[in-house]
Amino acid sequence: MENMQGSVSINTENIFPIIKKWLYSEKDIFLREIVSNASDAISKLKKLNAVGIASVEESEWKIEVTLDKDAGTITVFDNGIGMTRDEVIKYINQIAFSGAKDFLEKYQDKTDEAQIIGHFGLGFYSSFMVSDKVEIDTLSYLEGSEAVHWESNSGMDFEMTASDSQERGTYITMHISEDSKEYLEAHKLRETLTKYFSFLPINLYFIDVQEEEKKAADAHKAAEEAKEKGELVQDIIEEVKPINNTTPLWAKPVKDCTDEEYKAFYRTLFHDFNEPLFWIHLNTDYPFNLKGILYFPKLKSQYDTLEGEVKVYYNQVFVADNVKEILPEYLMLLKGAIDCPDLPLNVSRSFLQNDGYVNKISAHITKKVADKLTGMFNTEKENYIKYWDDINPFIKFGCLKDEKFYEKVKEALLFKTADGEYLSLEEMGDQMAIHYIDDVVQQAQYVNMYKGSDIKIAVLNGPLDSHFMNYLEYKNQGKVKFVRIDSDITDNMKESTDEFKQEDLDKLSEIFIADFKKVSGNEKIKVKAEAMKSNMPAIILVSEESRRMQEMAKMYGGFGLPLEDEVTIVLNAKNKSVQKYKELKENSVETDNEKANILCEQIYDLAVLAHKPMEADAMTKFIERSAKILDILSE
Ligand code: ADP
Ligand code: MG
Repeated sequence: MENMQGSVSINTENIFPIIKKWLYSEKDIFLREIVSNASDAISKLKKLNAVGIASVEESEWKIEVTLDKDAGTITVFDNGIGMTRDEVIKYINQIAFSGAKDFLEKYQDKTDEAQIIGHFGLGFYSSFMVSDKVEIDTLSYLEGSEAVHWESNSGMDFEMTASDSQERGTYITMHISEDSKEYLEAHKLRETLTKYFSFLPINLYFIDVQEEEKKAADAHKAAEEAKEKGELVQDIIEEVKPINNTTPLWAKPVKDCTDEEYKAFYRTLFHDFNEPLFWIHLNTDYPFNLKGILYFPKLKSQYDTLEGEVKVYYNQVFVADNVKEILPEYLMLLKGAIDCPDLPLNVSRSFLQNDGYVNKISAHITKKVADKLTGMFNTEKENYIKYWDDINPFIKFGCLKDEKFYEKVKEALLFKTADGEYLSLEEMGDQMAIHYIDDVVQQAQYVNMYKGSDIKIAVLNGPLDSHFMNYLEYKNQGKVKFVRIDSDITDNMKESTDEFKQEDLDKLSEIFIADFKKVSGNEKIKVKAEAMKSNMPAIILVSEESRRMQEMAKMYGGFGLPLEDEVTIVLNAKNKSVQKYKELKENSVETDNEKANILCEQIYDLAVLAHKPMEADAMTKFIERSAKILDILSE
């Protein structure tokens, strides 16, 4: 064979330093590229066999990654198609590099590295990111081929000679450079291989030369020792097993998969021993190829931040987690794996510009997820209800982020009620306004007043619920309105009794108003009196609009508008201490004044306590006063 030397390509001088810098944080990519090439080489030969162009017999198609830490090398071998001398010239020396050039031209000005990294492979040349020198030894499957040796120190100049390789296929030997020597650690290399190739469709072996030598020596020693004892033992060395599973569950027909398998697969993927709630098996051939399984994970607590993980694969090779170009943000809250073999992943086949395709994938997945949810709502309502607490943040987030998703699932939205029911918007009844609480403990006094009524009270205390209510109101203008339970007094809270005439009630509030202004420090406080279905002496109401406006202002960092104009305190005319205060005031005996003051302050504080957390000063006073009341009772 004629030896050959040359330059890989023109215009290369500036490329490598830039690529090295860009890809520095994602160096793992070199393994993905080199092992993917090995896998491609085998697929190609299998294909040629299948169509009758080649007739190569092979007992096991395989890829071997061999680590020789002492020599400082990682070698990737495949028994695939191999390359002839001409092919090395064409595919390695000329063509391969054009991809890298493309890459550079397109993305030179992009500063957002993360956007590029992970979606682009640089093919064979990515091996130079971690190597001082790369060697290829390859023998084509074609009859009469001569093995070729190629090597390059920089990726810019190469040398080509005859190789003494005897085996069909290709060895890529990387002499790992000083700044990448972490890859010479067996655990690091194994971990990286596992990350990318757990589901590679071809058997992948990891061989640690030093480890194998040690195993052989140990086995030999054990055999020797046994022999001395007169036992007959042979050197037994454990066989190396593939590190991958060549048939991930997503590749199996849906009808052949069992629940147990789905759960087990979830455990393998995420090492999460909490069982997923349910899952969606995606399996499409047309108009694009898409396979995968998406799991709805169980939340640990209601306030858990949702943190999903969707692993994206390309022909069973891991590409990246949560690729935001493929999946809408809310779908990344699920967990699972999707394989999109149609994804244009290479530099030359520009990934980021292919929005149309990616949009279609994401629309398809959105539809499948929505179908699953509405399907469950319609046919397995009980299960659906059981899962609601876990899945509602996901669904709400999805609705807020994607109108189409909302349109698809809106019939399947549920409200959890204070009584523990789960009702659809329709089942909430034809109330003008949906009453809700956002704090189960704080608002319990108000809920009590609705006991026995038909009014359903929704519990909307999740982190997304206030946005979600706004969204539903906006989507159902004039039809749906949410009012917090403490924003208004409804007939349900009133006792239907003739005991009090309106003028009595008005008089009662007049008697209180001056003292309430003083006690509350709010000159604008409004006072009302009603006969209520509760033994509370008074409750506080704040109008829904003003409270929301204040909350919004707070959220954006302001202090909020003063609510003083909007606070109403409603006295319970039936309550004895309210009546007692009235009596004391009307008698206007000097010595009764202190008692009246205590009553008024205590009535006010109780109403505040049932409404919102009390401030420190007020709480101190409340406790001191309560102690005094006990003293009086004990006199
Ligand atoms: P791509 O894989 O996108 O074509 P690469 O830079 O990864 O780009 O590889 C360039 C070419 O080199 C491949 O298309 C293939 O023809 C050849 N090649 C690389 N690795 C191997 C291999 N292990 N066996 C056979 N051919 C290979
Ligand atoms: Mg490649």
